[in-house]
Amino acid sequence: MSLSKDERVLALIERIFGEDTAKVFEVLLRRGKNVRDEEIAREIGMRVNSVRKALYQLHANQVVSYKKLYDPTTRWYTYLWSINEVGIKSLIERRIKLALNVLRQRLEHERSTVFFRCKKGSCPKISFDEALENSFRCPYCGGELEQVDNTEVIRRLEEEISKLERALSACHSR
Ligand SMILES: [Zn+2]
Repeated sequence: MSLSKDERVLALIERIFGEDTAKVFEVLLRRGKNVRDEEIAREIGMRVNSVRKALYQLHANQVVSYKKLYDPTTRWYTYLWSINEVGIKSLIERRIKLALNVLRQRLEHERSTVFFRCKKGSCPKISFDEALENSFRCPYCGGELEQVDNTEVIRRLEEEISKLERALSACHSR
């Protein structure tokens, strides 16, 4: 089952900001525009102060925006909160770029390094230098070492990278 765009965005928000902030964000995602913090608080049964804290956090990261309205009868300002689509898009872009960097570094590492693992196969793999230091014996179990074929790992990393590159260019063209 593949997640909808909203579900993916919500999952990302929860991962970055935590569960409570994600609950607040979810209400805005559902209602879209001009929602008052008191309404959000009522809807999810959270204290208004906590809702505001979550909103400020989201606002600091530009994923929500607000309009300030002055009510002349109560002489209070009302804040109307909305989803900031542009900000969400750029947050997703930043996240994808970050993940791409990590994957590209790992790919570079896999391509440039020869790994060894003992024939048992259950011990962690080690670098050539570590193998040399241990006279080509497994440092974990003392077993005989053999070179690891990492073509499959490299292929999977390349696949993951091109998937993210496609996602990134989809971000740009939308
Ligand atoms: Zn071993």
